[in-house]
Amino acid sequence: MAKEELECSFCGRKKSETNLLIAGLDAHICDRCIEQAHGIVLEESRQSDNSELSTELMLRKPQQIKKFLDEYIIGQEYTKKIMSVAVYNHYKRLLQPADEDDIEIQKSNIVMVGQTGTGKTLIAKTVAKMLNVPLAIVDATVLTEAGYVGEDVESILTRLLQAADYNLEKAEKGIVFIDEIDKIARKSDNPSITRDVSGEGVQQALLKLLEGTVVNVPPKGGRKHPDQKFIEVNTEHILFIAGGAFDGIEKIISKRLNMAAIGYKAAHDDERIDSSNLLQYIIPKDLKDYGLIPEIIGRLPVLTYMDPLDADTLRAILTEPKNAIIKQYKKLFDMDGIQFTISEGALNYIVEKAIEYKLGARGLRSLCEEVLTDAMFELPSSDVKTLKVDKEYAEEKLSKTTLKKLKAVS
Ligand code: ADP
Repeated sequence: MAKEELECSFCGRKKSETNLLIAGLDAHICDRCIEQAHGIVLEESRQSDNSELSTELMLRKPQQIKKFLDEYIIGQEYTKKIMSVAVYNHYKRLLQPADEDDIEIQKSNIVMVGQTGTGKTLIAKTVAKMLNVPLAIVDATVLTEAGYVGEDVESILTRLLQAADYNLEKAEKGIVFIDEIDKIARKSDNPSITRDVSGEGVQQALLKLLEGTVVNVPPKGGRKHPDQKFIEVNTEHILFIAGGAFDGIEKIISKRLNMAAIGYKAAHDDERIDSSNLLQYIIPKDLKDYGLIPEIIGRLPVLTYMDPLDADTLRAILTEPKNAIIKQYKKLFDMDGIQFTISEGALNYIVEKAIEYKLGARGLRSLCEEVLTDAMFELPSSDVKTLKVDKEYAEEKLSKTTLKKLKAVS
């Protein structure tokens, strides 16, 4: 009698009907059942991730959040403190039980004002990393009112879904960083002159997202279109952080401060205004005068500013953060068994050039790359096991043409 054909002990398919049949102690499993089981395992672990999120969130108090931010972000003390409290309150709100006492905690969406390259995106990224929640970074300049060329505001949520691997529950507790929010400021005081499709119209469209509502989101992005299936995303627990340089807002601040100064006269002389950093005096009204509509400002109740980066801060950014640029190069050379050191003189020289050529913190990386590229190209295939970079070495690699080129691309 012919030997009976082996079969999958889970679905009963015969060996000939499967691509693969794996034998266990006294059972068999086919490729399809393996895949199905794998899916179940993934789903289970996703669910347990979500419950971990809530315990994780409650474990960190504002001071601990700030400590975590300190590891990655140099300076910006005010913003780090404000963010720590806002993030803490936001997630407390998220974990509050549906209440009997009618006190509803409002959302703590945040707006950060500061020059580009001062760490706004980095702060948003670091908060998301700490909380282990998905983060979508979107540029407000690509958004337009529905029906016009550009992206609908819903595309923001498509990005968040993508960042969450389409896990809706995770996305609904995620963070959205809207960069360049200043670029959607109202273009003129008289909206009837031209259609302001990328300004006030977008602000209006953003309102409902910011305050918390259920939005139909096209999962693959693009324009809404009748046969596309939508995912319903509730934005109530999504934390929105907006950032912008608000070029020229200092004038608005200074004008307001001068007016106030006239009113108060000399009585407040001891509170001298630090005109080198006017952003520290920013209030919501300044954003309104800049062109954000009051409703948007109301839904971004936490307002904070970034300090400009001075030489000491830039110098610290090179070596101090947990994943500082110089630490990364050390690690890269280490992997080839090369001991890399860089002198204080060379580091200061790089900072000097970053300031001279107005390259900011972002430029530090490109400058280091220019200084070290030759070594990274040559040393791995040579017998050299040490690399000492001093000021002369850095000067030699950073010729005037190189610096001009860097400035041109920045
Ligand atoms: P922004 O969003 O304000 O334009 P980014 O957060 O993108 O600026 O900053 C650009 C890069 O500069 C960051 O990736 C980081 O490497 C560095 N950087 C800027 N500010 C800081 C800071 N305060 N501390 C540490 N690194 C910083």
